[in-house]
Formats: sequence, C-alpha cells, structure tokens
Amino acid sequence: MNDVVCLMPYSDRLFVDLHCHSTCSDGTLPPRVLARRAKQAGLSAFVLTDHDTAAGCAEAAAVAAELGIDFLPGIELSCDYPRPGTLHLLGYGIDPASPSLADLSRRMVAGRNERNERIVTALQKLGVRIDMDEVRQVAKGEVIGRPHIAEALLRKRIVSHRGEAFTRYLGNGGLAFEDRDQLTPAQAIAAVHAAGGLAVVAHPFQLRKENYAQLRGAIKHLADQGLDGIETLHSDHRDSLVAELEEIARELGLLVTGGSDFHGSNKPHIKLGRAGRRRIPRERYDALKAALAARGASKSA
Ligand code: AMP
Ligand code: ZN
Ligand code: FE
Ligand code: FE
Repeated sequence: MNDVVCLMPYSDRLFVDLHCHSTCSDGTLPPRVLARRAKQAGLSAFVLTDHDTAAGCAEAAAVAAELGIDFLPGIELSCDYPRPGTLHLLGYGIDPASPSLADLSRRMVAGRNERNERIVTALQKLGVRIDMDEVRQVAKGEVIGRPHIAEALLRKRIVSHRGEAFTRYLGNGGLAFEDRDQLTPAQAIAAVHAAGGLAVVAHPFQLRKENYAQLRGAIKHLADQGLDGIETLHSDHRDSLVAELEEIARELGLLVTGGSDFHGSNKPHIKLGRAGRRRIPRERYDALKAALAARGASKSA
C-alpha cells in the first residue's frame, strides 16, 4: 500500500512528518527552523518529538501557526526494555505545559546528567581526553545524551564517525557504556496519558525481536498496558516490516503513525518528511487528531 502511495502523483500538502528532533534534544536545528524546513518541504503538518522534553513545542507551534502549517506537540520517552532491544515511546498531543510531564522531564534530565558524568569518567579512565564542558558545548538544549558525547569525540578526532563512537565506546557493549534508570513502559504510557496525549511505540524495529510472532507478542503486551498506536512508517523500516506492523495494528485495533526521526546533521541520511523512500500520508496526522478529540470528548462526557 505504501508503495502505491510512493508511485502516485502527489501534492506535498498531502504529507506530514510525525517524528522530528530539535536542538532541545539531539537534533541540530532549533524548533523554529524545523518549522520553516517543514514548510519548505511542503509538509502540511509536523510533530516535534524531542527526547524527554517538550520544551521546544511552544516555539515550534508559534512558527508553524505563522507559516500556516499544522502542528501537534509531542515527546519521545526512552523506556526500560530487555536487551538487546530498546523501547522508545512517542507521546502525541501532550500538553507541553503539563506539570506532571515537566516533573518527569526534570527527572529524566537529572538521570541523563548523572549518566553523562559516569560516561565521561569512564572515557577518561580509558585515556580519552574529554570533559563534560566539551560535551555541553555541543548541546544546545538541556537534554544531553550520547549523541552529544559522540559529536564531542568526533570534533576531537578521537573517532572518525559517530557510529564508531557508539560501537567503540558509548553503545551497549562499548568500553564506556553506562546504563541509566528509565521508565517502565507502563509508567511512560501512563505519563503520556496523564499529560493528555496518545502513546505510540516508536520504530518497533528497535525492539529487536527475532520474528514477527515475537514482535506481535511484544506489541500486544504494550497494548494491554494502554498503548494507542504503532509507528509503522520510519526511516529504518523496510516495506515488509511496515506491512507486518500495519497488520498487527489492524488486529489489535491500534492507530498507525509515521515519521522520519529527523535529527538534522546528527543523522544526515534522514530527510525531513521521508520515512526512507516513503512519505507519510496526511491521514495519519488526521487520525491522531481524531483520536485525541474522541478521548477528550469521552473524558468530558
Ligand atoms: P541516549 O538518549 O543518550 O540514550 O542516546 C540514544 C540515542 O543515540 C538514540 O536516540 C540514537 O539517536 C543515538 N544512537 C544510538 N545508537 C547509535 C549509533 N550506533 N549510531 C548513531 N547514533 C546512535
Ligand atoms: Zn535522537
Ligand atoms: Fe527513538
Ligand atoms: Fe527519535
């Protein structure tokens, strides 16, 4: 079905991007610039989904409104998950000013900062000459993570590309890998719901399940904990996985979403508005809005 979408003549106004990062986390464009790029790319809507923070949403919303494109506030929360998988949960339509979300965000940032210190100490013990100030200089927002450390290592030519920073030092199994306390999936889903949003599992490819039956089981387990949707279209998903995920969504009655996971020059192969060579149809944005409206209506009823 997505192949058909690709081959049809299209107007770009028919497309959206529901997964983007800004300088508030580990993207390289400020929220206002991201909004302009979304407009330039001809998208009719986009969502900012920074890691662990909604701090950029007010700015992105204001610029999107000026430019006449639709915007929905979002967030991406990392959850505890059995290795080698990782679970990221997208929150759509959250209230960026929600006190519970702000509190959660503060706790996540504190946990990150503590882990960043441990990583830098581990690197120093390995003889790598790097300090936290150099990492902070890379970051533009308050959410600092491993991509910023990778960039600092790259700038100092300690590694020759970002991937090497992860495989050699920062990734799971790397010489300076450090874990951090993360939310359980149930806590993250509840936090998104408490902030008025819908909870969608990001890039299920990263759950690293061995086969589709296991993948289905993992998503069913999340659905039992309140999951609302699956990000089926993503830059790292091949067509066969997209088709399988859409089938799982149909079976479980979940929404389907899609996004590029744009990070600017931190992930130069990812283009805004593209999920690999596919585009993300406008209907996916409209379906999120409709589900949010339905939830709002059932709450106030
Ligand atoms: P953190 O949020 O600090 O745990 O860092 C995780 C982020 O690092 C992910 O969201 C990815 O964007 C990025 N990342 C993870 N593995 C790699 C890799 N091998 N190469 C480049 N970026 C990666
Ligand atoms: Zn990221
Ligand atoms: Fe992610
Ligand atoms: Fe992301």
